[in-house]
Amino acid sequence: MFGDLFEEDCSSVPDNQYGKGKKLKTKALEAPAPREFTNLSGIRNQGGTCYLNSLLQTLHFTPEFREALFSLGPEELGSLEDKDKPDAKVRIIPLQLQRLFAQLLLLDQEAASTADLTDSFGWTSNEEMRQHDVQELNRILFSALETSLVGTSGHDLINRLYHGTIVNQIVCKECKNVSEKQEDFLDLTVAVKNVSGLEDALWNMYVEEEVFDYDNLYHCGTCDKLVKAAKSAKLRKLPPFLTVSLLRFNFDFVKCERYKETSCYTFPLRINLKPFCEQSELDDLEYIYDLFSVIIHKGGCYGGHYHVYIKDVDHLGNWQFQEEKGKPDVNLKDLRNEEEIDDPLIILKAILLQEENNLIPVDQLGQKLLKKIGISWNKKYRKQYGPLRKFLQLHSQIFLLSSDESTVSLLKNSSLRAKFDFQRNDQHIFKTLTSESPGLNDRSSCPHWFDINDSKVQPIKEKDIQQQFQGKESAYMLFYRKSQLQRPPEARANPRYRVPCHLLNEMDAANLELQTKRAECDSTDNNFELHLHLGPHYQFFNGALHPVVSQTESMWDLTFDKRKTLGDLRQSIFQLLEFWEGDMVLSVAKFVPAGLHVYQMLDGDDLTLSEIEIADGEDIFVWNGVEVGGIQIPTGSDCEPLLLNVLHLATSSEGETCQQLIEFPHVFPANAEVGTVFTALAIPVGVLLINNTESMGEKSWTTIPKEDFKKTFREQGVRNGSSILIQDSNDDNSLLAKQGQWIASMNEIDWLQVKNLCEIESEEEQVKISATVNTVVFDIRIKAIKELKLMKELAENSCLRPIDRNGKLLCPVPDNYTLKEAELKMGSSLGLCPGKAPTSSQLFLFFAVGSDVQPGAEMEIIVEETISVRDCLKIMLEKSGLPGDAWHLRKTDWCCEAGEPLCEEGATLKELMICSGDTLLLIEGKLPPLGFLTVPIWWYQPQHPSGHWKSHQDQTNCTPPQGGIWRPISAQDSPGDGHAEVSLHYLGDVEISEDATLMELKSQGI
Ligand SMILES: [Zn+2]
Repeated sequence: MFGDLFEEDCSSVPDNQYGKGKKLKTKALEAPAPREFTNLSGIRNQGGTCYLNSLLQTLHFTPEFREALFSLGPEELGSLEDKDKPDAKVRIIPLQLQRLFAQLLLLDQEAASTADLTDSFGWTSNEEMRQHDVQELNRILFSALETSLVGTSGHDLINRLYHGTIVNQIVCKECKNVSEKQEDFLDLTVAVKNVSGLEDALWNMYVEEEVFDYDNLYHCGTCDKLVKAAKSAKLRKLPPFLTVSLLRFNFDFVKCERYKETSCYTFPLRINLKPFCEQSELDDLEYIYDLFSVIIHKGGCYGGHYHVYIKDVDHLGNWQFQEEKGKPDVNLKDLRNEEEIDDPLIILKAILLQEENNLIPVDQLGQKLLKKIGISWNKKYRKQYGPLRKFLQLHSQIFLLSSDESTVSLLKNSSLRAKFDFQRNDQHIFKTLTSESPGLNDRSSCPHWFDINDSKVQPIKEKDIQQQFQGKESAYMLFYRKSQLQRPPEARANPRYRVPCHLLNEMDAANLELQTKRAECDSTDNNFELHLHLGPHYQFFNGALHPVVSQTESMWDLTFDKRKTLGDLRQSIFQLLEFWEGDMVLSVAKFVPAGLHVYQMLDGDDLTLSEIEIADGEDIFVWNGVEVGGIQIPTGSDCEPLLLNVLHLATSSEGETCQQLIEFPHVFPANAEVGTVFTALAIPVGVLLINNTESMGEKSWTTIPKEDFKKTFREQGVRNGSSILIQDSNDDNSLLAKQGQWIASMNEIDWLQVKNLCEIESEEEQVKISATVNTVVFDIRIKAIKELKLMKELAENSCLRPIDRNGKLLCPVPDNYTLKEAELKMGSSLGLCPGKAPTSSQLFLFFAVGSDVQPGAEMEIIVEETISVRDCLKIMLEKSGLPGDAWHLRKTDWCCEAGEPLCEEGATLKELMICSGDTLLLIEGKLPPLGFLTVPIWWYQPQHPSGHWKSHQDQTNCTPPQGGIWRPISAQDSPGDGHAEVSLHYLGDVEISEDATLMELKSQGI
C-alpha cells in the first residue's frame, strides 16, 4: 500500500561494513571496530534496514522483553548448532534474537549484524525487507516470534508485554443499554493531522463521545427502534509496554498524492493514561507511563532514514558527552539559566532532594555543590551569602541542621513541596520538566538517552527529544513503559544480568578472539621494517663498508613493533644471531655513494624505537662497536665518506708536452683535510681545483689556495660526486683551457664500456666508465646505472657480465671484486643485466640440450653449489620444459663437446668441482645407479630348432665404460658370429650391480 514509501534513502549512511569510510581501505580485512566511548553497540545497516535496526534496539532496551526471551533455554528452543540437523526442533528466530541481544549487550564491536536474524525470517534480499514499514514490521516481528514460540513457556511473551484492549461502547439514551465490542491491540495508531499532540489525540479517541441523534439515530436492539445514543471508546486493559504509532503519512485525496505531516505533535516524557481508561479506581501510579523510545523518521514521504532515541533504563551505556569530558556538569549550565545558578537556595535544595532522606553531611554538601556547578561555595557565594553553614542556619525554614551541625536535611514540608513541584512539572511537557526536575544533572540518576543511528550510538540530552516534535525529521513511533516497572539494582550497569550461561561463554570467547585479532592488527600497524647489516658480513675498504659477499646475504630484514624498546630489539637480534659472541652494538647506518657508513650508536635500552626516533626502513649496523674485519671503522656524520672524482694530470714519462689525464673515483672522509689528497694518492703537493657542480664547464672549477689545504672537504663544500683536479704546478695557465682535451683524452685512458642490457629504455645504450685496476666492480655498476640514467632501484637488482669476443655474456662478476680480481681488462665490455650476481655459495651455470650446442643457445641458471646433481638436473629439465626423467647431465670438454657424465646423482655440484661459468649438457637417457651396469640382453637363437642358449660371456666381456649405455643401433651391430643360420633377438636392457655373479645376471635376464 505504501509502495516505496519506506524505501530508505541511505545516501547519507555509509554503506560499508563498519560504517566508517575512512577505515575501509585499511581495515577491511581486520577485526570489526570496538565499541565507541558510549560502550553501546549499534547495528550495521545492511542496506535498507535502518527501521529494523531501530525497532530491534527498542526491543533490546526493553529489559523485560530481553530477559523474558533470555529465560527460554535450549531445552525449549533447541540450539543453533543443530539447525541443520533434519529431525532437530530448533526455533531459529528466538535463538537468533537471543544471540543478537547478547551481542548488543556484550560483544565489543561497534555494530552488530542482523544478517542471521533476517535470514531466520526468510528475508534473503533487501527487496523483501523493504516491503515492510516500521509499524508493519513491528507486527510482523511479533507475529513471527509468537509463532515460533508456540508450545514453549514463552508462547505468551508478546501478549504479556504488549497486548492491551480497547472497548467500544454505544449507550442507548433511552434504555441505557450498553452494547460493547472489545478490540485487541499491540500498538495504538493515533492521528497527527489537526492534532496538537498525543494527549490531544487520546482525548479525541477515548474521551470524546460521538452522539447519534436527529437524522443520525442508532438502532437499539433492546428498544428495537431508532434512538439517540452515544458512542465512545476507552482503554480497558493497559499493557506494561505501550507502543504508539503516529499517522505521519497521509494520502491527500484532493491532490491524489501521499504527504508527510510535518506539523508539531508533542508527546510527554511521562503520561497519565487514567483519563482514557474505562476503569479509574486503581491507584494513580497504575496509569503512569514513561517514554523510553522514540523512532524517528527523517525525510519526506518518498524515502528516508530511521534512527531511534532510546532511554537506557539499566544504565548499560556510558552516558556522557565526549566534548564535555572532564568539565563538571556542564549540562547543568545548559539547562538552568544563570539566575538559577546564582540562587544557592535552588541548588542546595536540588542536591538534598537527591540524597536519601534528603539528608547529607554538611562538608559533603560543599563537595556536591562543587561537583554540580563546577565552582566552590567559597568562590561563588561566600562573598555575597557568607559561609555555607551560616547560610543553612539562616534558611531554617528550608534546611534543618543537626544539633552538632554536622548534617543537614530538608525540612519535611519543604521537601514535599519540592517533590510536588517536580510531579506537577512532570505532568507537563519538557520545558518545565527539564529545568525543574531534581537530579537531572546527576549522571547517576538522570535519564540516559542515546541516539542510535545504525552503527552509531551517541548520548543525547532528554530535552533533545523535543526537536523531534515536528518537521521533516520527526517522531514516528513512541514507546512507553509503565512507570511502576522497577529494575532490580543488580541489573544496573550490568550487561551480563540474566544472560544465559551459554551465551555469556559464547560472547566471552568471541571477545577474546576479537581482542587477539585486534592485537594482531594493531601490531601490524605498528610494525617497522628494519634492515640489519651484520658487521661480520662486511669489510671496510675504499673508505666505506661493503658486503663481503652480496647485499642480500649481509642484510637481514626484521619486522619489529616500534612500541617495543631498544632492549627488546637487541634481545631479538641476539636470538636471531645464535653465533654472536661478545658485545653487540647497534648503530644507525646509511648507504652513501661510497658504500655503507655507520652513524650514531643506538643508546637507551628502555626507550622505545619510536622514542629513539628510528624510522621505518632504517638500516642498522650490528657489530661490536669497534672494528669490522680487524679494521677500526670511522663512524658518525663528521667522517662520512665522500665519493669524489679525482682528475690527475700526470706528465707522461716521455716528456712535458704530453700530459695525460687520469680520472678515477676516490673516497675521502668528509672531515679530512683537503691537503690529504696528495698523501692519499702519493703524489707531490701541487695545485688543487675543486668542482662541486655536475657540469664540467670551465667556470665551475675553483682553485683552492694552499693555506686552505688545512680545511676539511666538508668545509670546502665538497659533496659526493664533486670533482677534484690535481695539477703538479700552478704555472700552467693552459690547464683549464685544456679541459676539453682532457675529456677527449679520457677515451684513451682507462675505462670500461658498460652496455645497458636491462631491457629498460634509457637515454644511452652504453657508457664508458673510467676505472683503474683497483676499482671495485660495484662502483662501476653504480656509476653505469647513474650515467645510463636508469632507475636507482636497479642498484639492488642488477649485475655486470663481461661480454666476450663473440658477444656472449659471461658469468656475472661479484660486486666486491676489483677489476684485477675479476680479471677484467681495460677497455673490455660489460653488460649491465637484470638480476643479482651469484653469491659466493652459488654457481652460475650455462646449460643446453643435446651434445650439439649452438653458441649463444645456452640457458642460464643460478643454483646453490651444494645442490645435488639430481636436483640440478630436475631444475634444468623444468627450465627447458623437457618431459620425462630419462635424462642425465654431462660436463662439456675443452672443445665444448659432451664430456664425462655426472654419474653420482647424490653428489653436490661442489663435490664434482663444477664452477661458475661451466656449461652442462642435458643428454637423453637415464644413467644406471652408481655401481650398476646396463646390460643389453640378446637372445641367441640358432635356426636349428634344437639350438642352445649361447653363453652371454661375449656380451659381458664388452662391458661399456662405467655409466655408458649400450644400444643396438642396427642388426649389423649385433653381437654374434654372423653365421647365417643364427638370429639374435634384442630382449631389452638389464640393470645389474657390477658385483653381481653371472648366475644372477642369467636369472635376471630370464
Ligand atoms: Zn435502548
